Amino acid sequence: MDKPLDRAYFEKRKNPKYDDKDKVTECCGQSRYQNSMMKGNKEDWKLIEDYIERRLHDYSNTISITPIFCNECKRFKEYVSEIDLEKTW
Ligand SMILES: [Zn+2]
Repeated sequence: MDKPLDRAYFEKRKNPKYDDKDKVTECCGQSRYQNSMMKGNKEDWKLIEDYIERRLHDYSNTISITPIFCNECKRFKEYVSEIDLEKTW
């Protein structure tokens, strides 16, 4: 039978060690093969700062935004915002 060409096929072509079952990290469920923003990376930190600065500028009810990284692999996970509820209403 003809083989469907899926993402795993192309990932494997780029990287022969690619294992589709192994594609997400156990610690935080993120793709191992995607370029993640990493804790301690200066360029990534600048992107994060820019994002947070824009959000704070655009949303006056946002007090602060904390970038959360995975403790295990240092990949960026999410932003957690502190919201001023009085300003929301
Ligand atoms: Zn992780």
